[in-house]
Amino acid sequence: MRAARRPPGGVSSYAVAMDDRALGDTIEACRSLISDRFPDGQHGAAAMLLGDGTVRTGTAPVAVNPAVELCHETEPFCGAHRLGQSIVASVCLHRWADGRFVVLSPCGVCRERLAVHGPQVLVAVADAKDPCRIIWKRLGEILPDYWMAAFPGEVDAGWAG
Ligand SMILES: [Zn+2]
Repeated sequence: MRAARRPPGGVSSYAVAMDDRALGDTIEACRSLISDRFPDGQHGAAAMLLGDGTVRTGTAPVAVNPAVELCHETEPFCGAHRLGQSIVASVCLHRWADGRFVVLSPCGVCRERLAVHGPQVLVAVADAKDPCRIIWKRLGEILPDYWMAAFPGEVDAGWAG
């Protein structure tokens, strides 16, 4: 373990020392899950880099009623909670039938979930000119005017001010 466990919302020492290799490993874990679990066709998955430097992945099952399906991020999000780890970075990818991996920025629900871990969480978003190219942004950049900032005592301190 490279960093002490901290509750969600804290800035782990690992996050401060995070390097491109760790983010690259997170992207690769996401791609590998898609390739290993779904050799063919269009499928997606997510991967999250946790405060201890480990990576958790997940993918969402298909339901008969699409209204009850989950986001790919749900499994690693819950895994981080189970392990008592903060989330440092999150990526979600979808592989097209032609083999390209397009970047899916976190939906509004996932942004709300990740907000528990603070505005410093890195999230992968698609480059405006190339949807297969990852741009890392802080959650605070893609979730401006977060509603919980009105309750600074009840949310990660990073959201206040
Ligand atoms: Zn989502």
